[in-house]
Amino acid sequence: MSIISIVIESSADKLGVGIVDSDGNILANNIRTFKPGIGKGIIPREAAEHHATNVPGLIKLSLSKAGMEASEIDLVSFTQGSGMGPCLRIDAVTARTLAVQLNKPIIGVNHQVAHVEIGRLIGKMEDPLVLYVSGGNSQVIAFAEARYRVFGETLDIPIGNCLDVFGREMMMDNSVIPMGAAIELKAKLSDDYVDLPYVVKGMDLSFSGILTAAIEKAKQGIELATMCNSLQETVFAMVTEVTERALAHTEKSEVLVCGGVGSNDRLKEMLNEMTKDHGARFVGLPAPTAIDNGAMIAWLGILMHKNGHKQRIEDTLVIQNFRPETVPVIWRS
Ligand code: AMP
Ligand code: MG
Repeated sequence: MSIISIVIESSADKLGVGIVDSDGNILANNIRTFKPGIGKGIIPREAAEHHATNVPGLIKLSLSKAGMEASEIDLVSFTQGSGMGPCLRIDAVTARTLAVQLNKPIIGVNHQVAHVEIGRLIGKMEDPLVLYVSGGNSQVIAFAEARYRVFGETLDIPIGNCLDVFGREMMMDNSVIPMGAAIELKAKLSDDYVDLPYVVKGMDLSFSGILTAAIEKAKQGIELATMCNSLQETVFAMVTEVTERALAHTEKSEVLVCGGVGSNDRLKEMLNEMTKDHGARFVGLPAPTAIDNGAMIAWLGILMHKNGHKQRIEDTLVIQNFRPETVPVIWRS
């Protein structure tokens, strides 16, 4: 029999509510994004306030889009981590309240693993090597010995944060489209390239020095389109290099990119070329399932539930630095 899971995801600037059934049908997947305003960054407390204000309405909207009553829900899932503490606590508290009120089981889900699993579902992939590039993460992840293991990651700021802060310092407008998408549009206006530091350390990456150098060069008067193009070319080449090395090592036959930065055409082009060179299949997800969203958390909640995972309310405290490799992958053989 099909079971239905509702989920609250609010690990960072986005609040997501999703409803998914155990056949993999996404019945609702709604997102509200906290917008701090031009030139400003995300203050976790303010984002959390946005999520707390919007969550009741978004749950109602999602139930009505799915055409169902709360009483028809079988399972409540939420993002337990990783993410920003104040934001995560909104999804955890909301999920606990729903689970107790509906008298249904609750499951706290690892955010990164959820990105991988929705990618496997939507991209129809068996066992992909995953590049997860978002506002809060930059990791190369692959399934090995019953866990999702991190093969490479940023040593300082995430790639999306690097793009966001650069755009913010340049006073670029991200009120309609995400900052990374605004940078992508600008970058398309220039083929020129200025040198920026290229920082790959073994399998790991560093973006903070590049960010500082890019801001400095822009302030010296180099055209913004050229700076956007140079920044993209540099950071995308870095993540492609690390992904390629992980692919050569793991010998996977599929590559998936996910996370908001993964919607960038230039990054997808680089990854696609690299993947083809290795005779593997490349998949970039459509935006609603590539960015932080509720459906991915709901789907992983269902996979865990169907495979016997049980969680007590006492074990639902948020884990800000929740590592994917700490999750036993009981739903895969
Ligand atoms: P996420 O954390 O997965 O929700 O993704 C948000 C991040 O993706 C932010 O850093 C955005 O600036 C970035 N982003 C969104 N669209 C694009 C794009 N087209 N190119 C590059 N980065 C993007
Ligand atoms: Mg994410």
